[in-house]
Amino acid sequence: MPELPEVETLRRALAQELEGCTLTALKIYEPRLLQNASEQELQRALVGRRLRAVRRRAKCLLFDFGEHTVILHLRMTGWPTLSPIENPRFVFAFAGNKTLYLHDTRRLATLHLVPSARADKLPPLAGLGIEPFQPSYKFEDFVTLLQTDQEIKKLLLDQRKIAGIGNIYACEALFASKIHPQRPARTLARSEARRLFVQIEEILSRAIAEQGTSVRTYRVLTGESGNFQNFLRVYDREGEPCLRCRTPIVRITQGGRGTYLCPKCQA
Ligand SMILES: [Zn+2]
Repeated sequence: MPELPEVETLRRALAQELEGCTLTALKIYEPRLLQNASEQELQRALVGRRLRAVRRRAKCLLFDFGEHTVILHLRMTGWPTLSPIENPRFVFAFAGNKTLYLHDTRRLATLHLVPSARADKLPPLAGLGIEPFQPSYKFEDFVTLLQTDQEIKKLLLDQRKIAGIGNIYACEALFASKIHPQRPARTLARSEARRLFVQIEEILSRAIAEQGTSVRTYRVLTGESGNFQNFLRVYDREGEPCLRCRTPIVRITQGGRGTYLCPKCQA
């Protein structure tokens, strides 16, 4: 699933290509995409409007058309592209001969239409937790989040607490911080919490700089792979030697998700 760095990479490219362009037509080919508005309602609200900004909140892309905002969650395999594709789930045509297509093999992507002024208070954004790059987010906020018996990796994946981190970056941040993923969050020493706080930001920043991680279906807007898969140190490396101590990386299951860790470094 595209996580914060992948969605942010797509957002930057989409903003560069489409901001300021006026929507001239839209067509929905996958009815399951629509969560709270019909195709006609979308057309009435958006056609003829200028795309003011493309934003991101957690793993969602926000297309701000002024009065209304379209919120796209890519889920497992959603991929927006400006190149014509077969079986698009939607087509948004803009003035200036630019067309946005949604590719989505698994058909799990979702689209909401919300009033821009209240977007944060409505699904799917309502209830989302701290944004890691929000300027007001400080170490003490992270420490407060840790005051729970929840396992630290599950907490990192809990979008109501901290938004945008998925399985790959949770594994990487815990490995870099030498913290066992099953530790109850409140047992982290302050120094460990500090390491984790710093590593989360550093790893997400580096992943954005490398245009995200392509381990399965994720592609950048142009269709090329991201590059951060070449820098993963623990994720998807079961049985391979730890890059720090040579102990074989193990895979455990937590909440139905695979967790990769070094049993020695993260004891
Ligand atoms: Zn190790």
